[in-house]
Amino acid sequence: MNLAVGVPRGLLFHEYGPIMLELLRQCGARPVLSPVTNREILQAGLELCVDEACLPVKVFFGHVAYLSGKVDALLVPRFVSVEPRAYICPKLMGLPDMIRARVCGAPRLVDPCIDMSSGLSRIASQVAALGQALGVGRGRAAIALVKSIDAAKRGSPEPEPAPSGAIRIGILGHNYALRDPYISLDLVDKIRRLGAAPIQACDYSHRETAGWERERARRGAKRLFWTYGRRLVGAAYRWLETGEVDGIVHLASFGCGPESFVAEVIQHEASKHGDMPLLCIDIDEHSAEAGLTTRLEAFIDTVAMRSGEYARYVPTSGQPVDTR
Ligand code: SF4
Repeated sequence: MNLAVGVPRGLLFHEYGPIMLELLRQCGARPVLSPVTNREILQAGLELCVDEACLPVKVFFGHVAYLSGKVDALLVPRFVSVEPRAYICPKLMGLPDMIRARVCGAPRLVDPCIDMSSGLSRIASQVAALGQALGVGRGRAAIALVKSIDAAKRGSPEPEPAPSGAIRIGILGHNYALRDPYISLDLVDKIRRLGAAPIQACDYSHRETAGWERERARRGAKRLFWTYGRRLVGAAYRWLETGEVDGIVHLASFGCGPESFVAEVIQHEASKHGDMPLLCIDIDEHSAEAGLTTRLEAFIDTVAMRSGEYARYVPTSGQPVDTR
């Protein structure tokens, strides 16, 4: 019988999910995906995870709890680096260890190390280890990996074009928060329902956002250490330079180490382009829909007023109000 391998629907599943599922199928395993996040999953995660972790990690623990007892093994990759000389958050590097330490009775973990900053021989040995964990040889594991990356590329949807005339709101945030409506309190759709057109950093390729982040570095700033920080700063820098959006919303998780720095960088850049409204929202397990809706409504009203006859009287960061 095929090995049943659980895939928690959290964190970088929202980025690499199609590759993970196809890879398991190509290796002859049966992937079992946890359901979309709900209250029970969050509650299970809160009970298992350490208090200091961010909300997406706590939710991930809830997905692990859901799958425990239902599968033979769990796929929890150890993401270290997905591009040369840039790194992923330490919580994702240590995720398999956190689960082993905190979830009693968790199934066996299949935890390939994804480290594109290391040499080819290390990557080859990780592919071999992955094959061994799934009961296939290194050759079959390598072919499965190539095929699954190819299949995922073919299946990537194009972003929807923004409707003309609507206020354009650029949204910054990690995909695992924005693509999980339970974590993000449905932020993207809320903005759409308020009549604005959301444009997300993930609508651009990594190459594009990295190009803008490099451009910022070319003008004297230091390059960021974290891949996801580069994406967010790159998208923010693009919007600030081109004026493609009318306002920016930045969603961050309370307690997130990298974001505490990245948010400062984004605010600093926005203050240099004083006419761009910026709303920063921190979320945790206590965040509530009503509070978020009120803030978004007020923000979108402010952006609309700035585009109209009241522009001179509505301040943004670093921009004095015209009191004449
Ligand atoms: S980058 Fe921040 S939100 Fe993401 S896993 Fe790390 S601490 Fe959590």
